[in-house]
Amino acid sequence: MKKEASFSPSFSLIILGFFVALLWASSLARAEKDFPTLLPAKTVDAIIAHASGDIAYQHIRRISLFNRLAASEAYHRSAEYVLTELKKYGLDDAHIEQYPADGKTWYYMFQSFHGWDGESGVVWLVSPHREKIADFMEMPACLCRWSNSAQVRGELIYVGAGRPEDFDGKDVKNKIVLTSSSPGPVHEEAVFNRGALGVISFSYPRPLDYPDPVERDGISHYETTDGRKSTFAFKISYRKGQELLRMLEGGQKLELEVDVKARVYPSQYENVIATIKGTDPEAEEFLLTAHLCHFDPGANDNASGAATILEIARALKELIATGEIEPPRRTIRFIWIPEMSGSYAYAATHPERTDKIMCGLNLDMVGSYLNRNNSGFYFHLTPDSMPHFINDVVANFADFVGQTNTEFDYYSGYSFTKPILSGQGSRDSFRYKILPFMGGSDHRIYNDRLINVPMVFFNVWPDPYYETNLDTPDKCDPTTMRRAAVVAVASAVFITGPKPNCFALAGEVYGRGLARIGEDIKKALHYFNKGEFKDLETAYKEADNVVRFAFVREKKAISSVSLLDPQDASLSKYIADIARSYDSQEKRARLDIWNHYLAIRGEKKGKLESLKLSKEEIAAQDIIPFRNEKLRGPLGIRYVVTRGGMNPLAGASPIMRDERVIYEVFNFIDGKNSVLDIRNAASAEYSPIPLPDVQRFMEALAKAEVIRLRTASAKRQ
Ligand SMILES: [Zn+2]
Repeated sequence: MKKEASFSPSFSLIILGFFVALLWASSLARAEKDFPTLLPAKTVDAIIAHASGDIAYQHIRRISLFNRLAASEAYHRSAEYVLTELKKYGLDDAHIEQYPADGKTWYYMFQSFHGWDGESGVVWLVSPHREKIADFMEMPACLCRWSNSAQVRGELIYVGAGRPEDFDGKDVKNKIVLTSSSPGPVHEEAVFNRGALGVISFSYPRPLDYPDPVERDGISHYETTDGRKSTFAFKISYRKGQELLRMLEGGQKLELEVDVKARVYPSQYENVIATIKGTDPEAEEFLLTAHLCHFDPGANDNASGAATILEIARALKELIATGEIEPPRRTIRFIWIPEMSGSYAYAATHPERTDKIMCGLNLDMVGSYLNRNNSGFYFHLTPDSMPHFINDVVANFADFVGQTNTEFDYYSGYSFTKPILSGQGSRDSFRYKILPFMGGSDHRIYNDRLINVPMVFFNVWPDPYYETNLDTPDKCDPTTMRRAAVVAVASAVFITGPKPNCFALAGEVYGRGLARIGEDIKKALHYFNKGEFKDLETAYKEADNVVRFAFVREKKAISSVSLLDPQDASLSKYIADIARSYDSQEKRARLDIWNHYLAIRGEKKGKLESLKLSKEEIAAQDIIPFRNEKLRGPLGIRYVVTRGGMNPLAGASPIMRDERVIYEVFNFIDGKNSVLDIRNAASAEYSPIPLPDVQRFMEALAKAEVIRLRTASAKRQ
């Protein structure tokens, strides 16, 4: 009877099934509305209500009017604009800080450069007919940075790509050269080596798609050893370049007149700094940074980031004033910088200040119309050498904004479940992704192990108008900026708040950590199919390595949660339990990889056998590199070559020459990892690196005294 009942579908079971289906359906619909954010829904709603994309857009319109190159007069004026707004919003301690930009001062491994102000610059074609070719007043991007004043007349001569061999049979002395390449190296060859007057370049990376933008550029501002100075270079559009070229190729003689007024001078980098003071002055701070610099207009790059963190500051002050959020326990620090130089100067001038920052966000290019420009909004996480909970705080709010602002919810039809739009902005879906680390902006400096401020990078890419005269405010979408602001404000409120829900965060880091480990296992198992390894055993060894380091990373990520509340013993215990659980999961996952390997070889499942190290690996395991504590920040290759005389990348394979790999090989140096560990960790993160590449790299760094090498076995004796 009992048995029979369990097999026949009774009425009650059908009813139950119906309710289950109903529950499932409603939970799907609810999943989008009640996305599990780390902050209470009421707080998130308040953040959305106060963060304004339209206000950020107003700042873009104003900031983009300044030709605000680092260490220039116009940069100073844009910095003053930001300062005035900060004072209006009532931020604490708002001020501008200056640092030498003189070509002599080094900030760690970064050499400062001179300031440059362009005043005017015009190129006229005077023969065979009169026509204006370029004018700084019309378009500041056309005059290359570090051009010097000049007043010359000369014949135009085409030198193609401008490599030394392209000059064969051409006399360019006292002439102006036209090139299809970037003007920097062509200027050196043509002006310094061959006596040309200056350079006109029509280089552009995507001329067939976009023939009309003018891409900004620069020439060297350093004097040659015999004291000669740079002259000038102009950029023109690809289309204009082709017109000139056709005339030259048609046998016409072109005469140009050039008039430049500009100055290269020892100047100052300027950072605008302000805070929202936390109630606990001892607590570590949270950082929001964006570079304010770049030539006019530079709307998306990076008036958008500068404008958005300004709006973030305003919205936070307002949320505190209305009582919708509690005053933060941790200080929230805002820094507007000239890109890279300002961050290096800030960190190098007072190392103790970056020691006090827990983590942060860098907003660089966050304003584009995503659909119209075929762009995506990307949240780039910290590198594997710096696992940190900041990644999962940002990912939580990014997913919330992304999933509630995309038309994929069956139950809500075509509308967003929680629309975050701006009155003057688009109604685009939020085309976003959470992606691994990428360099290219100031977070690269902060993520360095010795500076030790894990930072997530907000970035829209690609941008078809990147670094051109067409990067104007109309390309920027207030809706994109409002969404970026919501993610950033929510992250800041969670981390700096008086009582962050650390258990919720631990759950988030653990859950997302398992998903990342899953991705790593998938990557590892693909090593057996790729056919790029010399044999199956090598594929297995690298696959096992990927899985091993996935757990190293996630154990560090979960333990970082306790930094938020080190006093909470039950939190520490809970986190220690997760770390132990990872230990057993790691054994299981590595055994799975081993059995996969055995199955491919047609062998039966077996016990995990430890791999034998090669002689080279044993030697590399014995060498421990230590960073020079006085040289913080990412590696400067030029610094290493100048100081040690050895290029650390000479003869290196393509993988080792990847900018991200160089960064990580350097950043895994912690005084505990051996050369082999470092090679393995960076290989797990990217793809297998030949060990000799890493060994040669370390030798060059040691010669330049950027690191010291110690043998582990000698230490043990
Ligand atoms: Zn930028």
